[in-house]
Amino acid sequence: MELKRVVMLEAERDPAFANWISHTVGGERIHHCLQCGLCSGSCPLSLWMDYTPRRLLLLSREGFKEKALSSYTIWLCTSCYACTVECPKNIKVTDLMYALKARAIQERFYPKRFAVPELAREFSRMIRGSGRITESRLVLRVFFKTAIWRLIGFSSLGVKLLRTGRLRFVREKVNRQKEIVALLNDVAATRKELAR
Ligand code: SF4
Ligand code: SF4
Repeated sequence: MELKRVVMLEAERDPAFANWISHTVGGERIHHCLQCGLCSGSCPLSLWMDYTPRRLLLLSREGFKEKALSSYTIWLCTSCYACTVECPKNIKVTDLMYALKARAIQERFYPKRFAVPELAREFSRMIRGSGRITESRLVLRVFFKTAIWRLIGFSSLGVKLLRTGRLRFVREKVNRQKEIVALLNDVAATRKELAR
């Protein structure tokens, strides 16, 4: 992916977003960033990112909310932690990627019909609903929301998997699923508390 070269205007800055990123989990040290680029240099995917991790951190720190949250970078990140390990300022770059992803999902700030955030949304919905992922249902839901026409290309594979018992539509669930929901609610509440 070609690196974006864009003009940024002062009017596009959102101070509340800049404040949020510096108080979110992982963002505590964002203002220590030297812009040295070691994170981008160690990232195996930066070549395909529209903004390298270094540039994304700068955009976020300065409050360019729309550019940061609509960037493909956060969705390409595979959480390998190379950037976090290399950063000389101990900035938790990977955690920041997660924080930006969560915010982008919350505010639906991602390209329409883009599969990665839809997968994350459906995954989380299923875990809350039954405590387990039923893969066939998950895949179908994501296809319906993003590229239903592509299902046709996978139909023969689906039939083969069904015949061999590798694909099942029975909803899987755990016992005491309410405890999982309570746990997830606690995690969400703790994150909010830490971000204050
Ligand atoms: S490695 Fe750390 S200090 Fe250097 S640009 Fe990346 S986040 Fe900033
Ligand atoms: S954690 Fe994400 S941003 Fe960091 S090096 Fe790995 S892929 Fe790149």
